[in-house]
Amino acid sequence: MKFEELQLIEPILKALKDKNYTEPTPIQAKAIPTVLKGKDVLGVAQTGTGKTAAFSIPIIQHIHNRSGNSAGKPTLSALILTPTRELAIQIGENIEEYSKYTNIRQTVIFGGVKQHKQVEAMRRGVHVLVATPGRLLDLINQRIINLRNIELFVLDEADRMLDMGFINDIRKLLPLLPKKRQSLFFSATMPDNIVKLSRQILENPIKIEVSPVSSTAETIQQYLYYTNRLTKKNLLNHILEDESMDQVLVFSRTKRGADRVVKGLLKNKTRSAAIHGDKSQNQRQKALKQFKEGDIRVLVATDIAARGIDIDKLRYVINYDIPNLPETYVHRIGRSGRAGEEGIAIAICEPEENAYVRDIEKLINKKIKVLNDHPYPQTETPMTAAEKKEWNKEKDKRKQEFFANRKKSKSQGSSRNGNRRR
Ligand code: AMP
Repeated sequence: MKFEELQLIEPILKALKDKNYTEPTPIQAKAIPTVLKGKDVLGVAQTGTGKTAAFSIPIIQHIHNRSGNSAGKPTLSALILTPTRELAIQIGENIEEYSKYTNIRQTVIFGGVKQHKQVEAMRRGVHVLVATPGRLLDLINQRIINLRNIELFVLDEADRMLDMGFINDIRKLLPLLPKKRQSLFFSATMPDNIVKLSRQILENPIKIEVSPVSSTAETIQQYLYYTNRLTKKNLLNHILEDESMDQVLVFSRTKRGADRVVKGLLKNKTRSAAIHGDKSQNQRQKALKQFKEGDIRVLVATDIAARGIDIDKLRYVINYDIPNLPETYVHRIGRSGRAGEEGIAIAICEPEENAYVRDIEKLINKKIKVLNDHPYPQTETPMTAAEKKEWNKEKDKRKQEFFANRKKSKSQGSSRNGNRRR
């Protein structure tokens, strides 16, 4: 199928040509005509499927046809709600590109930065607003934004929204939207609470589902290394000796873990940086930019931080740990081999994670190819139940000590520096 067959307006087709998109992805082929017909959509799709364009393109077309060339201050007619700043920025960038031959104006708002520029943009007027929930509510409460003219509402990554605790914000926002509107709801997974939320938002929706979470893209080659806990770091350095791996996204379960991995990599002179929730917005943006531009070779991310990263043609993903939820593994490796490109996903497994590999293989219904030819083979066995209990006790103790020390040094720091914001 071609984009030309979707009855898109010329300015959008031209912009898509500039992006070198030749064919719509499955979700685009299904969602674009449905949204153009004015129907509500329940989309089950994860990032990497092309869902951003699937909702952005019909929004642009709708607004362009309605008020594209009218003079005067634009009316805020479309709201896209998304959980993270990174996602918000990326959606905004995509809309900017797809609408570059129209007069549509859009802006992005998110927390963690000063509001001044965002307020200015809203005062100048936009047709489309991409927002994270907290800052949006904030600006609504300050009467800088109102949603009374919204015709199209998108709730993106609904499952992640709930994971991140945004349910109350969403509940507050819903009554502020006009009853008569078109709504699009996207989520990678559809547990009961998400289905329930979707029912509060959508009216007679058309359900569109692409690549369910259990299916790993055919274009992703998956490999598995078994090793011991303490040799993971060495093994990662060993894997990265292959210099053809020029842009590698490494997943770490925890923020501290991500920092530790970066420390090990830097020691080995591998250009790398971490992004996670404890990094400032600027640090995250900088790391992402450096990664995209090839200034750093390895980006180490936690699952939540990585969710918002969109890098064209990311080839390598390394699971530095094996997630205990097999769906997380599928999401992670979905970051490589995007939109039909070939990808390589490598997992590094310590004895305690052997059981997780079995769960993953059950979910994806295939065996991951094990690579044995490396200097750090797994020689230890998983802990017994008693050993695990003891280990967890020790870990908790260390964690408590860590936080107690941090609290102490923070309060010493703040009494020295006044109450400076970190
Ligand atoms: P998304 O799922 O929206 O995060 O998109 C995943 C990636 O696919 C992004 O890098 C898009 O730029 C790219 N993409 C989206 N639609 C197409 C298309 N029709 N052809 C090629 N690439 C696309």
